[in-house]
Amino acid sequence: METTPIDDQPTASVPDETAEELYETAPCGYVTTSLDGRILKVNRTMSEWLGYEQGELTGGVRLLELLTVGGRMFYETHLSPMLRVGGAVNEIALDMIRKDGGVLPTLVNARQTRSVVDQPILNRLTIFNASERRMYERELLAARNLLRTTLVSIGDAVIAIDVEGRINFMNPVADELSGWKNNAGVGRPIEEVLVSVREETGARIANPIGEAIRSGVIGGLAEHTVLISKDGRRIAVDDSASPIKDESGAVVGGVLILRDISARREVERQLEETHDQIRRRADELRRSNEDLSQFAHVASHDLRSPLSTITRYVQLLDRTYGNDLGEGRELLEYVSDAAKRMSSLIDDLLEYAHVSAEGIHSSAPVDPNVQLQTVLDNLQDAISASGAIVTHDVLPEVLIDPTSLVQLLQNLIGNAIHYRSADPPRIHITATDQNRRVLFCCRDNGIGIAPEYQAQIFEPFKRLHGSDRPGSGIGLAVCKKIAERYNGRIWVESEVNHGSAFFLTLPKA
Ligand code: ADP
Repeated sequence: METTPIDDQPTASVPDETAEELYETAPCGYVTTSLDGRILKVNRTMSEWLGYEQGELTGGVRLLELLTVGGRMFYETHLSPMLRVGGAVNEIALDMIRKDGGVLPTLVNARQTRSVVDQPILNRLTIFNASERRMYERELLAARNLLRTTLVSIGDAVIAIDVEGRINFMNPVADELSGWKNNAGVGRPIEEVLVSVREETGARIANPIGEAIRSGVIGGLAEHTVLISKDGRRIAVDDSASPIKDESGAVVGGVLILRDISARREVERQLEETHDQIRRRADELRRSNEDLSQFAHVASHDLRSPLSTITRYVQLLDRTYGNDLGEGRELLEYVSDAAKRMSSLIDDLLEYAHVSAEGIHSSAPVDPNVQLQTVLDNLQDAISASGAIVTHDVLPEVLIDPTSLVQLLQNLIGNAIHYRSADPPRIHITATDQNRRVLFCCRDNGIGIAPEYQAQIFEPFKRLHGSDRPGSGIGLAVCKKIAERYNGRIWVESEVNHGSAFFLTLPKA
């Protein structure tokens, strides 16, 4: 026999069930009561849910006795009168009590059966077990409460809107920030409640939530946005706007998170102000250094010309009347020496002013070993005349203009030779690596410096010695200026008659 494809399908065999079996084992409870509520019949499902034998329930128990106190009140005030009047009730929630005392939450549908002469005879109830549903409801409620508590206690303002742009939720921070207290903003268009302007121009800015809803993409406000609250406060804010999508991905609204950043903006403003001040001070300093350099040039030029006149006429006097002057000739020599000394002071003054005005020329790494060699060559005469021995460690590279480094080393080594004791000078240069700096040390066995003068000697024209050790007192002041220009330091540790150690820090390459 030919078979149709449908015959090939496996068919589920339904066992024969009697109406009675269906009644007893149905997935819902069936209860029949008399009009006064006495249980006349109950199916097995219901009795099992309640933990009773069926016979225990049909022996005169009233349905009311199986209800919680709240259930009983509801039965008497709602279910029973509605049944009497309308003949039926649907989906009434009633809590029943199990035999073990536990509560069975249920949903009840009830019908009144009537006789042919339309007289009520019985009540029939279909009862659904709502335990699981109640559990889900509780979980849903807990999740909703958690969400609500989170949104209420969060430090940022949270505002939710629908697709039309009307606000449907504002947390307390949003109320406070916007000035629309007690949820007064809910139900209003977002543009009415949140007015944002650009900090610099005061121009109105469209709320980014509109764009987030249109585009379906997270967005934010431009920088430096100020919110103008309902009560006129201006609050610097930062924000993020996100679309809210349903399971199918369709945008159903948006959520806006606003943060008050007034404190941060204030700090930024103060920082900008401080930067401006520093810039202004640096400009002033540069200008005054330029002025000083200018002044030094002009002054040295103006001083030099009368000085050379003095020198010229002293020489003329000496040549013309020298022989007639007798002891007066010695006085002429004093004048000539003083003029020479003044000329050298002018040179030093110029050098000092020049260092002050110079910028940092180079930040390329410089090898101090090379510069040191140049210094030793420059000082060759003084070294051999004094019998000095200059030794040094290997010196690491530093970031400094090479000419300045020569000036530094030459002043320190030159002084170590110049201020020597009766012994031939022994000078040793070391350098220690110190994180981002190099610490140089120039140690000698010279006459040493008393503690009370150790800070003074770095000031211009400060000298501890007279004509026995000629000098202008400008060398260490120049060294200090150079060190400070590179954010370094210079100082001395010394004891009279026990030599000196000059320390100097410079930026490491
Ligand atoms: P100058 O050497 O022209 O006097 P400086 O500024 O180089 O000027 O030195 C200032 C003073 O510091 C010197 O007059 C001297 O008294 C003292 N001084 C500098 N270096 C040493 C040293 N190595 N030992 C002892 N005294 C020193």
